[in-house]
Amino acid sequence: MNIKENLNHIKSILPEHVTLVAVSKTKPVSDLMEAYNAGQRIFGENKIQEMAEKHEEMPKDIEWHMIGHVQRNKVKYMAEFVSLIHGVDNFKLLKEINKQAKKHNRTIDCLLQIKIASEDSKFGMSFDEASEIIQSKAFSELQHIKVTGVMGMATFTDDMNQVEKEFTVLKTYFDKLKICHTERSQNTEFRITSMGMSGDYELAIDCGSNMIRVGSSIFGERNYNN
Ligand SMILES: *Cc1c(COP(=O)(O)O)cnc(C)c1O
Repeated sequence: MNIKENLNHIKSILPEHVTLVAVSKTKPVSDLMEAYNAGQRIFGENKIQEMAEKHEEMPKDIEWHMIGHVQRNKVKYMAEFVSLIHGVDNFKLLKEINKQAKKHNRTIDCLLQIKIASEDSKFGMSFDEASEIIQSKAFSELQHIKVTGVMGMATFTDDMNQVEKEFTVLKTYFDKLKICHTERSQNTEFRITSMGMSGDYELAIDCGSNMIRVGSSIFGERNYNN
């Protein structure tokens, strides 16, 4: 696996408006440092503890993105440094992020994770729930979070037509939320549609993604047994 070559290949085909999150979960710091030395500054992890440990060890100009499911009681371990939390799928979690961000006197950017996949296993809220949250008075009172867009995961399938449909739906949701809420609320600023992983990021970009989360195409297959 040549991490630098993989990164350069992906970056060479990415349009300028698309941000690449290098998903480094389960990978050792030495691998992350290879990506860092090749110029990568945005890393995505799906476990808070693991991200916090890597944050400790690595250079401080890295942007850390939490891309996994977030347990409310663990928000405190990343509140000081996390740049963007992709997987926000309920209001209670937003409230907790707000509370922990306030302790550090900062504002944490969040994406609302919306369920677009047909499988039951995927986390995320419905479009209506997302819309309700950002219209609520309780939301408008949260001064230490900013909702900067949406995140979604397509169904795990070889059927690219289905994946394309799901990505298109998420982009439509993004556009609707942006139109309806951006001007009204201080703590929204809709600019990010986070969708697309190793197997489908080119399709995601064609469907309007401007943030892709790519792991195995950069760092190689993950081995969850070690
Ligand atoms: C692991 C993960 C990715 C990256 O997956 P790859 O197929 O390795 O690119 C992207 N998004 C989320 C939410 C993930 O958990």
